[in-house]
Amino acid sequence: MKRIGVLTSGGDAPGMNAAIRAVVRKALYEGMEVYGVNYGFAGLVVGDIRKLTQRDVGDMIQRGGTFLYSARYPQFATEEGQLKGIEQLKRFGIEGLVVIGGDGSYRGAKALSRHGFPCVGVPGTIDNDIPGTDYTIGFDTTINTVLDALDRIRDTATSHVRTFVIEVMGRDAGDIALWSGLASGAEQIIIPEKNFDITAVAENIREGREKGKKHSIIVLAEGVMDGKEFADKLDAIDNFHVRVTVLGHVQRGGSPTARDRVLASQLGAKAVEALKEGHGGVCVALYKEELVVRDIVETLDNMKHTPNLDLYKLNEEISN
Ligand code: ATP
Repeated sequence: MKRIGVLTSGGDAPGMNAAIRAVVRKALYEGMEVYGVNYGFAGLVVGDIRKLTQRDVGDMIQRGGTFLYSARYPQFATEEGQLKGIEQLKRFGIEGLVVIGGDGSYRGAKALSRHGFPCVGVPGTIDNDIPGTDYTIGFDTTINTVLDALDRIRDTATSHVRTFVIEVMGRDAGDIALWSGLASGAEQIIIPEKNFDITAVAENIREGREKGKKHSIIVLAEGVMDGKEFADKLDAIDNFHVRVTVLGHVQRGGSPTARDRVLASQLGAKAVEALKEGHGGVCVALYKEELVVRDIVETLDNMKHTPNLDLYKLNEEISN
């Protein structure tokens, strides 16, 4: 393989730039040329493609977001869109494609592979919800950003003896809430993977106050319900005067942590190796500290992501 392409797709994640950089530099090191596709699959179908040099990825490792831009482009789920994409790739002489994104982006990569075009998926999403990998690029930065916010909220919650509900991102997955909640010493963590009983949550707040706790911090994953709705349910049980903070898009931005930069560098380079070795229809992953290459169909169809629920149990044991 002499010429490969790279794109970022779906929601942006800190560390995507570090991953693109690794793809470009590793490919050049291996004697291949690299082309960048702007705006994910949307840019692919219209041929928004350009050659990337070593210098294009200079000064990028520390930047959040993605300099190749990203897009949501549902039309790529149609065969027509996919064939147009392959036509563009062939027009530029590109023989293999690295797709950096979440599980939706993986479906795009799977579709291209099914049409015979070799693709490698690289897990890039803040949600940490891709099956078959312990961590995704962006997750570590996001939980540290959330942690910083939670520490600040704790200061004000303690000063006024207040109950706070902090709604965090994660789509249908509870990983962001779970990790940031445990790391911040939150009293309660509410995630989609665990049922909760609102009266027990209220009881827990009351018990905490009786024990002399000065604040109660509840970290709520957006996949459960929105923060306002949750707070209203609590206030309906007792007049807690719950304050709600929705962290929103601050969770996506910012310079990637060392951990995300290292992961992005490793996975980006591994993706290039996979293409060089003739693999297509695969994705790269970190599994039990090892870099692995997995079949993308098998990963999407037969594997399931579940957060580490030992952390949930641990938080219940030590948070009160
Ligand atoms: P994140 O979850 O972090 O936002 P994601 O990659 O899961 O990332 P999506 O918006 O679900 O984000 O998917 C990104 C893009 O992948 C879509 O906009 C679309 O272009 C493509 N895509 C999604 N599903 C499919 C599919 N079934 N077939 C082909 N392409 C798809």
